[in-house]
Amino acid sequence: MLSLDRPFTYELDEGLVAGIGSLVQVPFHGRLVRGWVLGPTDDVPDRILRVKKAVSPVRFFDRSMLEVIRWVSERYVAPLASVIARSYPPRVASEETNPPTPPRSSTDTPRPDPARILPTYRAGSEMLTALEGGAGAFVVRPAPEDEQRVAVEAVGAALAGGRSGIVLVPELEPLPATASAVLEAFGERVALFAGGSQRARYRMWLDIGSGAFPVVVGTRPAVFAPTPDLGLLYVSRESHAGHREERSPYYHVRDVALARGRASHAVCVMSALCPTAEAVTSGAVDVVPLGRGWPPVEVVRPGPEGRAPRLVSALKAVTRGFVFEPLPGYGVARVCRACGGAAACASCGGMLRSQEGSVRCTVCGADGTCANCGAADFGIVRGGAERVEEWARAVAPVPVRRTGPGDRPTPPGDREVTVGGVEAVKDFGPLGLDLVGILDADQAARRPGLAARERALATWMEAAAWASPRGRVIVQTRHPGDPAVQSLVSGNPERFHRSELPRRADAGFPAGWPVFRVTGDATLVDELEALHPRTLLSSSDEGQTVCLVALDPGAVPAFGRTMRAFAERGVITRVEAEPHL
Ligand SMILES: [Zn+2]
Ligand SMILES: [Zn+2]
Repeated sequence: MLSLDRPFTYELDEGLVAGIGSLVQVPFHGRLVRGWVLGPTDDVPDRILRVKKAVSPVRFFDRSMLEVIRWVSERYVAPLASVIARSYPPRVASEETNPPTPPRSSTDTPRPDPARILPTYRAGSEMLTALEGGAGAFVVRPAPEDEQRVAVEAVGAALAGGRSGIVLVPELEPLPATASAVLEAFGERVALFAGGSQRARYRMWLDIGSGAFPVVVGTRPAVFAPTPDLGLLYVSRESHAGHREERSPYYHVRDVALARGRASHAVCVMSALCPTAEAVTSGAVDVVPLGRGWPPVEVVRPGPEGRAPRLVSALKAVTRGFVFEPLPGYGVARVCRACGGAAACASCGGMLRSQEGSVRCTVCGADGTCANCGAADFGIVRGGAERVEEWARAVAPVPVRRTGPGDRPTPPGDREVTVGGVEAVKDFGPLGLDLVGILDADQAARRPGLAARERALATWMEAAAWASPRGRVIVQTRHPGDPAVQSLVSGNPERFHRSELPRRADAGFPAGWPVFRVTGDATLVDELEALHPRTLLSSSDEGQTVCLVALDPGAVPAFGRTMRAFAERGVITRVEAEPHL
C-alpha cells in the first residue's frame, strides 16, 4: 500500500544471522508480520522492538539490487515492499535447504563465432570494450541478418571479461530466435528463466544467485535475476510492447535495465530494428552497421479493394512470402440487407465485422443484428486478413496460410505464403523471403495512441527484415511521403523520429518524460496542479477523477512523496506509471 510505503526500524540481534536482504518476522501493531531487512539506520526511535526471527537463510537482495528496487519504487511510484516481492519468484521454502547446483562454467560448450560483427559497426568496438569490464548504455540497430549474432557476440564479450549476462526477450512463446541463438551458443551455461513448476522456478532463481549460470535468458522478471558479477543487460526487440509490465508495480524492462546497469556498473544494450523514442532520447550510444543491408522497398498505391497491381503480379511469381494485413476478419458490415439502413450493432451501436464466418460487434462482441430492424444479413465491404488470404490464394502459385488470432505463429514454409497481422510478426531470425507485402499501412496513422505509429513502423520493419537482400518488399499506402513510410524504405527510423519527437512534445508528452495516470477524488486536479506538471489532463466520471500527468524527469521523487501523502489522506486510490497513451 502506497500509504504505508516507508521503512520501519527494529533491533536486529547478531545471533539471528540476518542482514540486508533477509526475510524476517517482526511484531507490528500487536501482530507478527514479515518484512525484509533493508540495512542499518541512524534514525533510531526511542522505543524499539526486536526482530523476532529470520524466516529464511536466503538473502533476497544485496546492496546493488536494493538500489535498483528503490529506483523502481521511486520512478514508478510503487510501494517498495511490492517491488521487492516481485523481484524474485514465489518461495518454496523446502528448496532453500537443498544443496545448490554446481556452477556451469565448464568450457565444454563451443565459444561463440569468432567472425565478429560488432567491430564492423559504428561504435561497436566501444561497446565490446565496455562489455569486457566497463559500463555504459548502447542502442544497437542491427542489420536484419545480424540481430541474433550481435546478441551472442555481446554475451560472449561479457563472459570473456569474466562477467555474467542477462538477455531480456519480450516473450517466450514462440521462443524468439535471439533466445535460441544464445541457448545454442552457450548451452548448459544458460538459465532459461521461464515457466516450469513453482519449485523448479525457485530452484533456478537460487542457483542463478549462487552463480551456477553465467547467462540468463528470460522475460520481464529476469531483469531482477540475481546473477553475480553482472556485466550485460541485453534488451532484445526493445520496442516490443511485451517489455512493459501490465500489472502493478508497473515498470518497463528497458528503464529497469538501464538503472541496473548504473547500479551494477554493467553495460545495458537496447537492441531493435526500430528503437523507441525513449531509447533514442536516453543518451545511449548508437551502434549501427557502417554499410546497412536492407531489402529494396517499393511504395505503391493500393489498387481496387486494396490490391496494387504490382503486389498481385509479385504474388503470382512468389515461392516464399509474407503478407502483413493489420486488420482481422473478412470485411466490415456497411448496410442491412433487410431494411437498407446503415449497419450498426443493436446492443451498442458499434461497428460490425465479419470474422471467422460470423458477424460480430467490434466493440461489445455481441452477435451482429441490425440496430434498426433486428435482421442479421448485411452487405459486407471486403477487407482484412481473411479476405487477403482468399485473394492471395487465387493468385499465388504456392499454398497460402493465414495466422489468425489464437494461432501459434510460425514462419512461412519453403514453398508457402503466410498472411497475418501484428500477432504473426515474431523474432524468427532472417527468413530470406522473396516477397514481403505490407498492406493497409495507412491504418497505422488512424490508430489511437501516442506510440501507435512507432509500433506500426517497428512491426513493418521486423516483417520487411524477413525479405532476402535480393527479395522485394512492397508497401501499399496513399501517403508515400509519410515519415514512417520513408523510414521503412530506408530501413532507418531516424527520419520518423525526427518528425515524431516534436509531435510527441507538442501533444504534451515528450519522449522520456515520465507519465502517470492517477485516480482519485474531485480535489485531485487542484492538488496535482500545485505540482506544476508539464501536462495535466483530467476527466471525471461517477465521482471518480482520472488525471494524466507528464512530469519533468527530475520532479518524479517529489511527485512520489506527494502521491504517498495523498494515499495516506485518501485523496487517491491508484497511480499507474507509463499508461498506454
Ligand atoms: Zn456492440
Ligand atoms: Zn435492418
